[in-house]
Amino acid sequence: MDLVVVNGLVVTADAQFKADVLCRQGRISAIGDNLFRQGMEKIDAAGCYVLPGGIDAHVHLQMPVGDLVSTDDFGSGTAAAACGGTTTIVDFATPERGQALEEAVRLRRAEADGQAAIDYGLHLALVDDSEETLAALPGLVRAGYSSFKIYTVYDGLYLEDPAILRLLQVAAEQGVTVLVHGENRAIVDYCTQRLLQAGHSAPRYHPQARPAAAEAEGAARVMALAQVTGATLCIAHVSCEQVLEEVRRARARGQAVHAETCPHYLLLTQEEYERPGFEGAKYVLTPPLRSEVDREALWQALAAGEFQQVSTDHCPWNYAAQKERGRENFALIPNGAAGIETRLPLLWSEGVGRGRLSPEQFVQLTASGPARAFGLYPRKGVLAPGADADIVVWDPHRRLTLRAADLHQRVDYCPYEGWPVQGYPRDVFLRGRPLVRGGQFVGEPGGGRFVERSSQPA
Ligand SMILES: [Zn+2]
Repeated sequence: MDLVVVNGLVVTADAQFKADVLCRQGRISAIGDNLFRQGMEKIDAAGCYVLPGGIDAHVHLQMPVGDLVSTDDFGSGTAAAACGGTTTIVDFATPERGQALEEAVRLRRAEADGQAAIDYGLHLALVDDSEETLAALPGLVRAGYSSFKIYTVYDGLYLEDPAILRLLQVAAEQGVTVLVHGENRAIVDYCTQRLLQAGHSAPRYHPQARPAAAEAEGAARVMALAQVTGATLCIAHVSCEQVLEEVRRARARGQAVHAETCPHYLLLTQEEYERPGFEGAKYVLTPPLRSEVDREALWQALAAGEFQQVSTDHCPWNYAAQKERGRENFALIPNGAAGIETRLPLLWSEGVGRGRLSPEQFVQLTASGPARAFGLYPRKGVLAPGADADIVVWDPHRRLTLRAADLHQRVDYCPYEGWPVQGYPRDVFLRGRPLVRGGQFVGEPGGGRFVERSSQPA
């Protein structure tokens, strides 16, 4: 049955206007006045905004780290995402060292297909520049895995400069964006060892082990390598002003560099690590939370349009049993926290609600920006005829207090426990089918599909 959303205020990255949105066979077929006809299902969005479904281009569902696995799987994580207004995620296919990339992709698809309640894509995390890997990339890009992820830290993931150069060359030829986790490994190892040798093993030392200098050097170095080889970059999870300055320098040289930040860097500071006992472990994520000065700098950059996306880096670990691993040594605390469900409500509340962002900027940062960077546009990330009917009816008046017990993320705490928000998804549709009605999840495992993303070959 055709679906029409009436009486709402439609928001795109450029404009907001009163209009009906007509959906036919999973796509938006028209936007305009008086589109309701007999026989259509009518959704009354009076008093609400009508937004494109959120796109979270950086999440880690059921991600193995050592013998642990992040707590949300593709079923629970995508249901939580839907409840928060996100209809598409981009997760990762990450090979073990020596494993063929195609094999890693096949295994990841097997974990997601039939489980995901929302649409999903996969970035190719590249952990070597072997001939096999280089040979596999063009075919995988054509099959819709049209973005790479590279790391400059973490055993099992980090790449040395020669490998990064070769992989960036391929990215430039294939016309795909490379998501960069760029911390300087030597700085992180050096700082961590010095802290531990001095007996500083508590969570409060986590930010000192991963200083802004490490993050800025890693980002600057990969941007220099991209200057030589070409390739569009997206600097992941920018946490501080020092990295922003490097991004600005690269852009001033004419380089194509996207920037991503996350709600936790916008809303929280390193003060969280001073919580009593071991509670600071809840906020051990990487890069770490920074200073109030950095937090303010991120908001200003966000308002000035310097960021293309706000993603979550969702990677939840239970405080009991999992975070607990690092009670005697902060370096053993699994890195990451939950955020897939709270991204839109927090950014709306703290951004639009406080007058720091317009609704159009909100749509740009949560949907259109990541869609453009990662080959989903204009199929997703925008309300326009021909696009997938991924639609959020957003109630700007709904107030609630975030509590782990009420959320759908499968983890035993919420980093924003007790945080008040105003503005929440009322109804969410994926390709015209309901995922959330009146705030209740009505989707199902397997209702989401793998999305083949496009590339722009040179
Ligand atoms: Zn990540």
